[in-house]
Amino acid sequence: MNLSFKNRIAFFYLIATAMMVALVFIAIYLVIYNRVMSDIEYALNYEAIRHQKEIVIEGGIIRFVNRTEMEEREHRDVEVSPIFIQLVDPNGSVTDRSPNLKEGRLAFKRDAMRSLEQDDVLNGKRIRQLQIPIVDEGKLVGYIITAISIENSHQLLVTLRQLLLVMYPIVLLLLFGVTRWLAGKSIVPVKTILSTTNRITESNLNERIPLPEQKDELHQLTASINQLLARIESAMDREKQFTADASHELRTPLSVLRGTLEVLLRKPRSPEEYIDKIGLSIKEIDRMHHIVEQLLTLARFDHPSKTPVYSYIQVCDFIQDLIQRQQINWSEGNVEVVVSCPKQLQLNTDPGLLEVILDNLLSNAVKYSPAGSRIRIEVKEDPQVSISIIDQGVGIKQDDLDKIFQPFYRSDALNHKNIKGTGLGLSLVQKACDLLSIDLTVESELNKGSSFTLRF
Ligand code: ADP
Repeated sequence: MNLSFKNRIAFFYLIATAMMVALVFIAIYLVIYNRVMSDIEYALNYEAIRHQKEIVIEGGIIRFVNRTEMEEREHRDVEVSPIFIQLVDPNGSVTDRSPNLKEGRLAFKRDAMRSLEQDDVLNGKRIRQLQIPIVDEGKLVGYIITAISIENSHQLLVTLRQLLLVMYPIVLLLLFGVTRWLAGKSIVPVKTILSTTNRITESNLNERIPLPEQKDELHQLTASINQLLARIESAMDREKQFTADASHELRTPLSVLRGTLEVLLRKPRSPEEYIDKIGLSIKEIDRMHHIVEQLLTLARFDHPSKTPVYSYIQVCDFIQDLIQRQQINWSEGNVEVVVSCPKQLQLNTDPGLLEVILDNLLSNAVKYSPAGSRIRIEVKEDPQVSISIIDQGVGIKQDDLDKIFQPFYRSDALNHKNIKGTGLGLSLVQKACDLLSIDLTVESELNKGSSFTLRF
């Protein structure tokens, strides 16, 4: 069944209450029924015992002592529920009976010691009767049968039953209506959440769902959706910023390239000038190529399918190879790199990703260090393997320490214009560290040096 949330709550509640109300109604009916019946039985018992004192046994036959007094009493008392008495011998033949019985006979049950007959009918009226044996000198002489009309009680029970049966669906209908209304009221915040979330698009991502006053599950749900929106918004902002920065970074070398070529076109130049300008253009193309390469690597790292491929490496050999490959690019006597590494130390890692990390950290250390300074690469294994790259370079401002990992962010770029960079290196390092679950920390002091540590 395709019920709305509101109707579903009301329907489930109705099923539960239908069972409960039915139980309560049955309980009410049974309590009243038992009460009425026990009253009748009490009256029957009382009358039977009372009339037992008003009988005599003459020659083995039981009779009423004073029939005339009995008749008078019946006339005197206006009886709502008249008592019928019948005296019978052991075979069931009537020996005497109360005047109000007229032509009627009460049913007899042979050999019954003491029995309470269920409802019988006398002159078209419902009665209940009690049969008690009369014993004289150890011999059964007959029975006294007492009966009482239960017409009124029966009528009362029938009316009660009909009333409960009519009330049952009415109560359920009312309960369904009330529950539906209450359920509707309690899902108002859900409707607010729905209408706000439906309204939110890329252009109004800053909008938030108003928090419900009640601090309940809906409040938590709203807060969670708001937090999710905030995360999406900041991810979108980062994405936009990234695209803007990337376009800007690529536009700069393109403008330089265009400017250089235009200058060359304006008039004929000497071969030296052509060589110079073409050299400059190639440098700009290389720079663009480098940015595009880094952007592609970043995109690859971000792709969900990018998972590390682990294998064992000899850490010291790995670092030495890296230094040798980089050394070609360092100008003569620029820096001194000192490595301290426990021999034979092996590491299970993705060599490609580790190369990206160490390559960028080492080239930064070299790039941001003055000529002749020393760079230390310290590898430790106590008990966790860690690699630190420590330089004595320009250092990084404390405020910038958490920003330098953002794409295109260059700390104090204007203060060292001669040091070329894209601001993408550390973003790549951070992404690769995330993929390998490496803890990357940085400590730095301006004009003293920086230290980047990887903990595996
Ligand atoms: P870049 O291409 O600019 O070097 P990175 O992402 O590698 O880009 O570094 C971001 C910024 O962090 C750099 O611009 C620089 O300001 C700072 N930085 C990184 N490494 C060092 C270092 N070893 N010493 C001083 N500053 C550093």
